[in-house]
This record gives sequence, C-alpha cells and structure tokens, in this order.
Amino acid sequence: FRAVIFDMGGVVLPSPFPMTKEYELQKKIPPGTIWKTIKDYGDKGAWPKLEIGEINAEEFGQIFSEECTKIAGETVNVHDFLPYLEHGMKSPISEVLDAINCLRQEGYKTALLTNNWIQSDGKSLLPISRDHFDVVIESAVVGVNKPKYPIYNLCLSQLNVKPEDTIFLDDMQPNLVAAKSLGIHTIKVEDVHVAINELEQQLNIPLTSTNKGTTPVRKEMQFDTRKFTEYLNNQLNMGLTHEPEVREFSHGQSNPTYLIDYGPNVTKMVLRKKPPGKLLPSAHAVEREYRIMKAVGNHGVKVPPLLALCEDSSIIGTPFYVMELVQGNIYKDPSLPGMTPESRKKVYREMVDTLCKIHRVDIDKAGINDYGKHGNYVERQVGIWTKQYQRSETHTIPSMNRLITWLPQHLPTNEVTSVVHGDVRIDNFIFRRDQPEVVATLDWELSTLGDPISDLAYSCIPYFLPTNFPIISGLKGVNLNELGIPTHEQILEMYCNEMQLPNIDNFDFYMAFSFFRVASILQGVYKRSKQGQASSDQAGVTGKLAEHMSDIGWSFASKEGFRLFNKTNPSIGSGTRKYSTHAGKDSEKYSRSKVAESNKDMKLPIHVSALPPSTQQLHSNLLQFMEDHVYPVEKSFSEYYSSENRWTPHPELEKLKAKAKSAGLWNLFLPHSDHGAGLCNVEYAYLCEVMGRCLYAPEIFNCSAPDTGNMEVLAEFGTEDQKQRWLKPLLDGEIRSCFAMTEPQVASSDATNIESSIDEDGDRLVLNGRKWWTSGAMDPRMKIIIFMGKNDKNAARHKQQSMVLVPSDTPGVEIIRPLTVFGFDDAPVGHGEVIFNNVSVPKENMILEPGAGFKIAQARLGPGRIHHCMRLIGSAERSLDLMKERVKSRVTFGRALVTRDTILRDIATSRIEIDQCRLLVLMTAHMMDVAGNKAAAKEIAMIKVAVPITVSRVIDRALQAFGAAGLSGDFPLAGFYAWSRALRIADGPDAVHEAAIAKKELA
Ligand SMILES: Cc1cc2nc3c(=O)[nH]c(=O)nc-3n(C[C@H](O)[C@H](O)[C@H](O)COP(=O)(O)OP(=O)(O)OC[C@H]3O[C@@H](n4cnc5c(N)ncnc54)[C@H](O)[C@@H]3O)c2cc1C
Repeated sequence: FRAVIFDMGGVVLPSPFPMTKEYELQKKIPPGTIWKTIKDYGDKGAWPKLEIGEINAEEFGQIFSEECTKIAGETVNVHDFLPYLEHGMKSPISEVLDAINCLRQEGYKTALLTNNWIQSDGKSLLPISRDHFDVVIESAVVGVNKPKYPIYNLCLSQLNVKPEDTIFLDDMQPNLVAAKSLGIHTIKVEDVHVAINELEQQLNIPLTSTNKGTTPVRKEMQFDTRKFTEYLNNQLNMGLTHEPEVREFSHGQSNPTYLIDYGPNVTKMVLRKKPPGKLLPSAHAVEREYRIMKAVGNHGVKVPPLLALCEDSSIIGTPFYVMELVQGNIYKDPSLPGMTPESRKKVYREMVDTLCKIHRVDIDKAGINDYGKHGNYVERQVGIWTKQYQRSETHTIPSMNRLITWLPQHLPTNEVTSVVHGDVRIDNFIFRRDQPEVVATLDWELSTLGDPISDLAYSCIPYFLPTNFPIISGLKGVNLNELGIPTHEQILEMYCNEMQLPNIDNFDFYMAFSFFRVASILQGVYKRSKQGQASSDQAGVTGKLAEHMSDIGWSFASKEGFRLFNKTNPSIGSGTRKYSTHAGKDSEKYSRSKVAESNKDMKLPIHVSALPPSTQQLHSNLLQFMEDHVYPVEKSFSEYYSSENRWTPHPELEKLKAKAKSAGLWNLFLPHSDHGAGLCNVEYAYLCEVMGRCLYAPEIFNCSAPDTGNMEVLAEFGTEDQKQRWLKPLLDGEIRSCFAMTEPQVASSDATNIESSIDEDGDRLVLNGRKWWTSGAMDPRMKIIIFMGKNDKNAARHKQQSMVLVPSDTPGVEIIRPLTVFGFDDAPVGHGEVIFNNVSVPKENMILEPGAGFKIAQARLGPGRIHHCMRLIGSAERSLDLMKERVKSRVTFGRALVTRDTILRDIATSRIEIDQCRLLVLMTAHMMDVAGNKAAAKEIAMIKVAVPITVSRVIDRALQAFGAAGLSGDFPLAGFYAWSRALRIADGPDAVHEAAIAKKELA
C-alpha cells in the first residue's frame, strides 16, 4: 500500500447521523424524515445538488425544506440543518489525526475525499487543516460527488497511485462499494478506533505516535539525563550507551511525567517525579504511588509494569520512579467521539469494573494495611483539603468557605475502608487499541485507604461540567442516550450492582465533597503557577476554575441539605432505616440511610387529590357537612350574635358539635396525637381552609382559636394532671379557654415588655397584672386562662416569663369589658380586658417550668398562625365565590357587572392572589411537617405577613363589587374583612414578622 484515503464526516470528524436524529428530535420533525428525503429524491434532490456545489447552503435550506415537507406530509423547516451539522462537526477526532501523522511519517500518502458543501459565506466546508493530507478532494469544489467514479479517479490521479495501492475509509456503504469496484481496498468505519486498528493490521505499522500527548520538556522541568541513564544502568543493568530523547506529557497537572525514549531497541519508559521547588507537605509523594501500584498490580488491577523507584534526590533533583510505556488509547474527551454507542457503553462499563476491582483489593493480602489511616476518611480528607486550600488561598471564594463549614457537619457515617484511587477519570485509564478493555490505570498520586464512594463520586464530575471546560472535559448538555454513554445515575447503579450495594442515598454529599476537593487542588495549582511550579500551561487559568468547581460543589451541598430536610418528615414514615451496603465480610460496617424510596411520598401535595385517601375522604365529608349543616344556619347564627342574647352560645351550636363529633370531624387540628385525627399540617391545612369559609364553622368542629393553640400547649407541655383537668374537657368541647398575654400599658409586640407578675407564696403562685385582647374571655364556657407573666425579672430577657393555668372562677380574676374590632365584639367569644388582682393558684398550675414562657409561646404560635392563614384562605375563597355570584346578577348602566373589565380584572387578581397564598401556606405546612416548626420559622412569619394582607385585598374587592350590601351583616364579607385586618396585628404585627424574616434572610 502507498496511500490511505479518508472520508471526512464520520471518519475524520464526528458522524452526522446521530446529529441528524438529534436535530429532528429538537425541531419536532418526524424521525427519519431527513435521510428518507435524501434517499427518496436521489440524484434529483437538493442534497446531491448541494454536494456538487450546484446550490449553496442558503438555497439548499429552501428547497430541502419543501422536499422534507412533502415526504413528512406536514410542514417541515430545515433551514438551519446545515449550520447545525457544521457546528457539530467542527473538531476532528484526535486519534484519527494521530494516525494520519503516523502514516505520513512512515511515508504513506494521505488524501481526504469528501462530499461536502459550499457554506453561506461562499467557502467550502472543511473544518480540518489541509496540511494533514497530500491531496484534498471536495465534491462541492470539483463538481462531482461520491459514489461517482470520477471523484475516486481524480483522487487516485492526484495521489499518483494505483487503486490497488490504496485503502479507503468511509462510513457509507455505497461509497465503499464504488471504491471497491475500482479495485481500492476499503475499511468500513463504524467506530473509528476499531477502524484505525484494522488499518494498523493491514499496514502492519503502529498508528499511535509514541509522542502523542507530549511536548518538549519545559526549561524549568528539565533534569540531568546523564545521571538518570547512569542510574538505570546501575539499577537495572540496562547497558545504555547514550542519553535518551525525553519529552514531557502534557497530561497531568501535578507530578511531572516524562516519556523516555532510548531508541528502537529499548522499551520506551515513563518517568514520574516530584515537581521541583518547595512543596506542600504530603503532596506529590511519588514513593507512595510506586508502592500502591506494585501492591494493587499484584491483586488484579492492571497498572503499567514498574521498573524502579528512586528516593534519592541527588540523581535528578527529586525522588522518581520509572515504568514501561503502555501502548493503547487514552480518551481525553469523555464523549468519546468517533465511537459507536455500543463501544462507548463498554468503555464506561470497563471504567466502572476497574473501579470495582480497585475497591475490592484485599488490603491485608496486598500488604498495604498501613497505606493510610482506617476510618473517618472523608472527615480527614475534608480537613486536609481545607488546610491545603487555606494555604493556597489567593482570594475569597464564598462557596468554598460555605463548604468548609457544611462538609464537616454532614459527614457520612459507617464508612468502609478500601483502596481509593483518588483521581478516577476516563483519561487516567489506558484502553486496548482494538477493543474497549482497560490495560492500565494511571496517576495514583492521590491514592490512599479510604471511602470508596468518594472515588465513584469523583468519576462523575464530568457529568456536571460543560464540554468546553478546561482541564477536565465535561459531558453537560451532551445527549448521553444518543451516544450510548450511561448517565451518572446509571454509573451509580452499575457500581452498586457490581459491589452488591443498595442505593447510596447521600451521594450528593460525596459529589459536594468531590467538587470541593477538586476546587482545592485547582487552587493549589493556581498558587503554584503563580510561583512557577505547576507542571501545566493551563495552570494559570485554574484560579477561576477553582471558583467554578466550588460553586458546583455548593449546589450539591444544597441538594443534599434538602434531602436531609425532607428525610426528617415525621408524618410520612420518615425513612432513616439503616441498610448494610457492603458485600462480604464488611457488610456490617457499611450502612447508609435510605430515604429515597420514602421520599416519593414526601412530595408537597398541592391539590386535595394528592392527599392520602383517608384525608381526601375527611375533606369531602367536611365539605358535605358544611353544605348540609353549617351554611344553612349561618344567617341564624349571625342574627343571634347581634341580638341581646349574644353572650351565650347559639342554641343549635351544641347539637351541631355533637353531629360533627359523630361524623369524625372533630379535633382535626391536633397532629400526631391520640386525641385528634393524626393529620400532618399539610393535610389539616386543606380541612382548615374549608372551615374558614364560615366564621362560625371552626368551633363546630372544635377547631377554633384560641382553644386549638391552648390545647396544643397542654398536649405538649402539660402534666398528666393538667391534661386530665383541662385538656380533656377542651378536647371534648365541654369548656373553652383563653390566652392572656397582651397588656394595655406596654407595647406587647415585644413580649419581653410584659409587666404582669408571678410571685411565689409558699406552695402557691400569686398573679398580678392587667391584660387585654384576651380572646374568648367573654364566653360563659371559658373555664381556663393561660396567663403569661414574669416570675424573675433578673433572669435573661427570654427566661423571665412563665405561663400559669388560671381557672376563670379564681378570686381576683375580673373581666372588666369586651373590646371590639371595628365595632364587632365577636360575641360570644369576645376579646376581654381582664384584671388579675392577687390571683392565687397552686404551684402545680405552672406550665412546664418557671422561665419557659417564651419557649411555650413560640411553640404555640407556629401551628396557630398556619391555622389562621388557612382559615383566611377559606374566607377569601368564599368571598370570591360570593362576588362571582353577585356580579352575574347585578346590572348597572345596562350591563351585567360581570361584563365590566374592572370586575373581570378583580376576579382574576383575586384568583391569582388566593392561589399564591395557598401555595405559600402549603409549603410552610410541609416544612413544619418535615423539618419542624423551628426550621419553618421564616416561612411561618412569611405567611403571617402575606396572607392577612392579601386576603384583605381579595375581600375588599368582593366588598366593592357588592356595594353597600357587602358592608352589612347580611353577608359574611364584613366579618371576614374585620378579621383579616385584625390578623395583621393579632399574633404579632406585620412589622415584627417582617423584621424576623429579613434577619433570617440576611443571615
Ligand atoms: C382581634 C385580636 C385578638 C387578639 N387576641 C389576643 C389574645 O387572645 N391574647 C393576647 O394576649 N393578645 C391578643 N391580641 C393582642 C395582639 O397579640 C397584640 O395586639 C399584638 O401583639 C401587638 O401588640 P400591641 O397591640 O401592644 O402593639 P404595640 O406593641 O404597641 O405595637 C404597635 C405597632 O408598632 C409597630 N411595631 C411593633 N414592633 C415593631 C418593629 N419591631 N418594627 C417596626 N414596627 C413595629 C407595629 O405596627 C405595631 O402594630 C389580639 C389582638 C387582636 C387585634
């Protein structure tokens, strides 16, 4: 053979076939349309005309769109198909270029024979340098395309070779058939690596240059080759008579690596040494690299054959070791261009298998039990890389600082100990030339004993980096499925299957840690580059990259944080089951919590239909109960509570309560309790909203404020005795209660201002003070008051207060007047002003303990606030319903109100605002369920501000649409409005909550 002819797309450049499929998918063109159009139109179509330069790219777009439209039977626009292909085919496959260079060095002629086209700029498509070829034949330039004979003949004549002296590589069968019939030898290219291997066999010459990936040695990296040769002769008896040709591998950032070539009769070698200059402690330990490679190499892991280790710095300036050069493919680009999807899959499978082999090495048998410490690997690593980072810090990277705090708080428990490679990436494996099989694993610099999952996570880094990312090429945005590359989840699954592990639920922690580590390494390289020590040209740009990596790391930390947050959901069987996750003898040591499965159930239900069936049933029963029993009596209740009898309960009330109780619609508010329905906050939120549709409804279901909050206090903090005495009758709906905190003489938004006193007197407590806005105080059924006062004015600010249970008939308790809200007195509940004058109760009436007042108040207010908000949403829904009904029937100036734009806008705005509020409240309820009231403090404060003000606006629009009727007692709107407005002050004014939100936000 004298010449090799290469096709362009699919041989020297990536294949256009997968790109076409991808294009069709993206543009929603029926799959297969493009190739079918090319085939069906044949010689008469736009495609061959484009190939022979008869039409240019722009003209092609027009004609080809029409052709595709006819074939697909629907409108198809492929104007940008060619630019799409051009974009995807711009980088040549490095292995092929390398083969071409080798061919030329061996004296073979090379040609490029391509069917291409004239681009919109008038130039032909040729995204590869002509310098690689002796002859370039472009169909669009010469006016004839493959598989027509003249183009082959032209190529042969320009090469000045006979057909039988040439080999032609193409990915299209018809092109090969034509070449073959002319007597040219052919190779069908499906996978370029396989094809190059076949070419290599045919020609019997190596087609991978030994110099591949190397550069001349930089001045600061040179060493004494004479002394080195002397050393080899002394140690290995090699009898070398001359100095070697030395080149430096551009691969690898840290330990300088050299290709040592003593000519054709001596095996080529690779030398790895420490970098010169002052180094960070424990870094660049080539001695360790040598030791581990020797050890794992004897236990099933393929590594390059090792020749010698020299720890004597006097030979070439630093310690070093020498190994044989292993021939094979190193894939720099993780998208593996030029391969078939099948081969790509195998490459990744091999990588995972090799990783498993490394992790399965028996460290005792391999004699490396002391190669690293046992246990707490990740913790130590976090410490090491934190220190390394801090030593190399050149500027502040905020996400790095956050990770430094976060990682130690989220360490995995129960790690196993195995060999870890420490730098698992596709280009640290050498693959066989003819098939995807690992023949050596390289770069053991960061290896140690530790948690194997850290290796696995590290190997997944490219999935989160863009394709053009410097130093490590990424896979982000690549169509993995199309290319046959497993996703990172599939890698994880393969690994777990192979190692017989169940799912690794905290894998995002390991990802965060991996990115942190790589950021720290890059920062080190960056600092060294500033001092001229780094072994790569790219080092200078790594400063910015460190920042990018640590930002990605932080995004994983946030993701893991959210998973942990969800995991704490007490309501839906929070799954923190421990699973033994390691095969064989270590099985007990290795366990990880498994939440992912139960996580499915922990989604926030944003619609009633997403609730558990039993709650949906309750919801529907409640709606029915409202229809059957509540709305029909609403007017009667309203009239009664405006009459002179209003300070006694409506005569129907107790009957309705009994009905609700027997219908199972009772105490629905109490979560996780023996007493209530055992609903979580989200579930109750939906029910609470229904009750909020009528001001009188909550009490019918024993779900009204302030009793609900008081019952929660007793359920959570009360003694058995207190529960028996007060909680039980409250739960049974026999008595009512109130909560006395606010005082007229001090600003009570700040509860530390409270002046009422609690003094000890023997075994009794004596209470004095004046309270107001004590809701429920006026009700004749009110039997118990929770009183908040100060028992120790010298204690810390939030420890001075206590809560004491005061029976309403205790001497000295004097209810002096009802207060009104916009004139409403809320009879029979009422908001009372109450004087406590030397009120004496037994010490046992203290709730929890002296000084716990604030703590109890906080616990009480979370659920209380969310209940208020959900009820308000019910009021808003009802107001909107009433408004919609009203505007359909009222006619002004000749038209129904419902036809007015302003009314339509008001309806729309109200719908938007109600739904916004509901979602925020549901999210808050969910957070309370999964993380607890404390963790949801900000969200609770947010709804407490957002909902009353928004609902006020919704009701206000309804009021306006109603005209004067809305303000009257004939409709519930005025009552709703007064209550929603009051709630901007009750339970703490907006400003106080806003201050708390902002504080948390800023923190
Ligand atoms: C209908 C209703 C029912 C109630 N029920 C009860 C009950 O059952 N039990 C009970 O103890 N109390 C109850 N309250 C009282 C309520 O909790 C208090 O009114 C509330 O805590 C505010 O206290 P204050 O009225 O003393 O206002 P102040 O503390 O005097 O505050 C006045 C205003 O100052 C502003 N302000 C306060 N702090 C800040 C700040 N940090 N930054 C900026 N501005 C600020 C706010 O606008 C606030 O409205 C009820 C109130 C209402 C209206």
